[in-house]
Amino acid sequence: MKDLTTLNHKQFSDLLVKNFPHFFQHMEDIRCSLMGFGVEAESGWFPLIYETLEKLDEVNDNPDFYITQIKEKFASIRIYCSPTNDKAWKVIECAEKKSMSICEICGKRGKLMERGYWLKTLCKNCSTLLDYKNCKPWKAYDETKK
Ligand SMILES: [Zn+2]
Repeated sequence: MKDLTTLNHKQFSDLLVKNFPHFFQHMEDIRCSLMGFGVEAESGWFPLIYETLEKLDEVNDNPDFYITQIKEKFASIRIYCSPTNDKAWKVIECAEKKSMSICEICGKRGKLMERGYWLKTLCKNCSTLLDYKNCKPWKAYDETKK
């Protein structure tokens, strides 16, 4: 498959809707789903998001199951779904952990960086470009504990 990190947000959303239509069955209705706004994370995580939806597709046997939101929060990926269940949660939790070592901008190996109060998972290059610095360990600890 082509490198998903090269897609823009519109192209990536379109791809998700095309390949996983059932996961986005309510995306026109913002009372149910915020996916109408698209994926609220940078393209470095697109491959991880795609791979996670594939896994969700494998474990899911509920035709009513759908994704309500995909976003970055505290420097890791969050995927919200409805109705939630243990199998889906496991897949999502695994993606969340993985995202903590993938640069959100370019998809290379990254780690937790900070700029003031902002936290992001970035590689060295992207952190330099965006003026982020190594995160202090106590913050990293805070963000990774559940
Ligand atoms: Zn990067």
